[in-house]
Amino acid sequence: MKIIIKNGMVISMDCKKDMYTYDDVVIEDDKIIYVGNNYNEYCDKVIDAKGKIVMPGLINCHTHLGMSIFRASNDNYTLDKWLNEYIWPIEDNMTDDDMYYTTLLSIVEMIKTGTTCFNDMYFNWKGSFKAFDKIGIRGVYGRCLIGNGNEWDNKVNDFNNLYNCNKNNLIKLSIAPHSLYTVDSDGLIESELLASKYKLPIHIHLSEDMDEVNTIKNKYNMLPVNVLDKYKLLNHKLIIAHGTYISEGEIELLRDKDVSICTNPISNLNLGCGIADINMYKNNGINICLGTDGVGSGNNMNMFYHMSMLDNLQKGKYKDSTVMSSYDVLKIATINGAHALGMDREIGSIEVGKKADIIIVDINDIEMCPCVNPIVQIVHNGWYNSVDTTIVNGNILMDNKKLNVDINIDELSKKINNIRERLMR
Ligand SMILES: [Zn+2]
Repeated sequence: MKIIIKNGMVISMDCKKDMYTYDDVVIEDDKIIYVGNNYNEYCDKVIDAKGKIVMPGLINCHTHLGMSIFRASNDNYTLDKWLNEYIWPIEDNMTDDDMYYTTLLSIVEMIKTGTTCFNDMYFNWKGSFKAFDKIGIRGVYGRCLIGNGNEWDNKVNDFNNLYNCNKNNLIKLSIAPHSLYTVDSDGLIESELLASKYKLPIHIHLSEDMDEVNTIKNKYNMLPVNVLDKYKLLNHKLIIAHGTYISEGEIELLRDKDVSICTNPISNLNLGCGIADINMYKNNGINICLGTDGVGSGNNMNMFYHMSMLDNLQKGKYKDSTVMSSYDVLKIATINGAHALGMDREIGSIEVGKKADIIIVDINDIEMCPCVNPIVQIVHNGWYNSVDTTIVNGNILMDNKKLNVDINIDELSKKINNIRERLMR
């Protein structure tokens, strides 16, 4: 199958090119085979992107896809109370079937809002993988490892089962110890051993709020990043989710490592955690990527909204509108995310030889009028209706704003509401 996208404004995120160009983009099967002018060979499908932006799919580097039943559920809870009294007791009762539908809902939301790759951490992987297999979206999945003793061992066994069963070539795996406050030192040692044994990256929540930082300081008599260093977790292409409170001293430790910090600005605000000093991390050479977190605290999976918030928060925090540009933010949501996931040779930009994970964004709607600077418009005014087409691995999952997946959306919504009513009774 050969597809040509013509007449669009291409924001390729290819550092060798201008910020935007007017090129044809040609896809053959799963790959981009041409980016340039006047492609004249036969193509099976022609997409006319006149008046639209063609860009790499967005990469959401911290998700809990199965949490869609908890959408916008946090109101007046602290992080600790919300997890312990609300989320975790309900999650314990979720079946594989529940997880299939809740994951499916998140995937549909990602397709509609231009996300083509995710980095998830959750449990009941059989349900989630059924959804991944059905749609064909790209991602990294970490079976959440949490607790101690038998509880921990059961979860590691479950991860080993997943490792042996995963046949989905679009989904890679990670080792996902939940956090330093829910995993003890034995668990950290075993996480490092698993990452070494399977040569997988590690994905962990860290320093989400100051209470957590103080808990870890009291427990280990050192700061959270020092704990990660002590247990050698920094050596495994680590992705730190949140990192709201990482000191300059800790950043020094991260500078020479292949570690990424995935900021989740909406979730951090919603749970009253605060605002991460992303500008300081970035200026110290740390790879920054962006996540929505689960929709319980992140509210939605629309990465455009989270991009806008990230940009505005840093400008507000510094009282300086020059600390971050919209192009910086687009990098964070595309090529930096690809780097964090170890996939920057495959995705994150529109370049010949890369996988065809591409979105087309409609800039004709009133919220983008007048479109003087398309990059600023994309970051600040992209919304649900803005994404016109979503392509993952060469497959068109949304075509001209119509979902191209085998799902009845009305039935899916009913299922989700039924699951929510049953579990929250
Ligand atoms: Zn999270």
